[in-house]
Amino acid sequence: MGTQKKLAVLTYGCQMNKYSSERMAGMFQAQGYDMAERVQEADVILLNTCSVREKAEQKVYSQLGRLKGLKRKNPALIIGVAGCVAQQEGERLIQRMPFVDMVFSPQNVVKLPQLVQEVEEKRTRVMALGDNDAWYYHPYPVRRESRVQAWVGVMEGCDKFCSFCIVPYTRGRERSKPLSLVVQEVTQLAQAGYKEVTLLGQNITSYGKRSPEGGNLVQLLRAVHQVEGIVRLRFLTSHPREFSEELMATIAELPKVCEGIHLPVQSGSNAVLRRMRRGYTVEEYLRKVETLRRYLPEVGLSTDIIVGFPGERAADFAQTRALLEEVGYDSVYLFRYSPRPGTRAASLPDQVPEEVKSERFAELSALIEQMGLQKNRGYEGRCVEVLVEGPSKKKAHQLTGRTRNNKIVNFSGEDRLIGELVSVTITRGGPHSLEGELIES
Ligand code: SF4
Repeated sequence: MGTQKKLAVLTYGCQMNKYSSERMAGMFQAQGYDMAERVQEADVILLNTCSVREKAEQKVYSQLGRLKGLKRKNPALIIGVAGCVAQQEGERLIQRMPFVDMVFSPQNVVKLPQLVQEVEEKRTRVMALGDNDAWYYHPYPVRRESRVQAWVGVMEGCDKFCSFCIVPYTRGRERSKPLSLVVQEVTQLAQAGYKEVTLLGQNITSYGKRSPEGGNLVQLLRAVHQVEGIVRLRFLTSHPREFSEELMATIAELPKVCEGIHLPVQSGSNAVLRRMRRGYTVEEYLRKVETLRRYLPEVGLSTDIIVGFPGERAADFAQTRALLEEVGYDSVYLFRYSPRPGTRAASLPDQVPEEVKSERFAELSALIEQMGLQKNRGYEGRCVEVLVEGPSKKKAHQLTGRTRNNKIVNFSGEDRLIGELVSVTITRGGPHSLEGELIES
């Protein structure tokens, strides 16, 4: 690869994808590439895709359609498709999109420099799909967006096979990065000045599975907690079935582990949960929430909800609504069910009509907005600890950061505070964030 070339990475989907985009950018940077400010300037464009929802997948195809014109103007341009759509569509994508040069699965990001070289030298189209065990051993250079908060991938894949989910097919079986390598990566981040680390895995509560060093999430948290310089530790995403009381007690015991927990329930109806193959009942989930709140009274709880899953009757939907009200989440990621080809749920009878999904979606959106506002107003007048992440994207001269329980707080302050823990008095609670005033020390 030459110098002064430019890379653009377009990212869709979850934090795992954002993290792998940072790894891709890091690899290119190590080869002398700059980041392009606009796709039009790029020599290489990578689409890091998501196929968890149909809508996300459609976005990828429309973006590819737009990139076709750029390739026509500049035949030397290299276009690569990574992520879950790449793994799922593979050969079909290469056939359907003749201007795409590279298609590679999430596990094959490690091969990226080699793939680009092949395209450049042979002007051939390349594919790297399926698993690649080297994903965690490779000493990736990572180009991180933030200089305060860093993501660290500790697991890949999922063995749960929830009936609606494509992840086990696109990301493969659960496997864990060895604990010693995670600690090594976090230590390097601390030395580089990072203050907060979020450990990532599609199913992080299964951490340790297929790791050559074994271990579990509790042991991982304890080990990472010892890294000096890191002041906050988070982890994503937990499966309710595996969220043990031992884990709750560990979070309560370790001061750096933050009380912001994402515990996706998906539905408030046992009949729907059974068809989703989630492996727990509403009652079991509620007991976990109750225990969690006993250990962590200040916990900020978030969840995912799918509306319109096949066979979801009005009574099932009402139970989901009731569950949301009962738990009183801090935030809810709401999705309309969309059938993913190859998953069990895609062929279930009683698919819910789109207009019913939309009505249910609108009803819950309004409820979530109102609940968020009510929760956040409860913070008015309180003093909270905020890790300052950077300038606010919405308001000039404002800083943004998060509380331990994951509330976004915006307030006026100087840039020198970025990366610091500060105290802020909350003056206004909105539906999605808080506003406050800095308490000068
Ligand atoms: S636990 Fe279920 S929803 Fe989560 S990634 Fe695995 S299969 Fe998908």
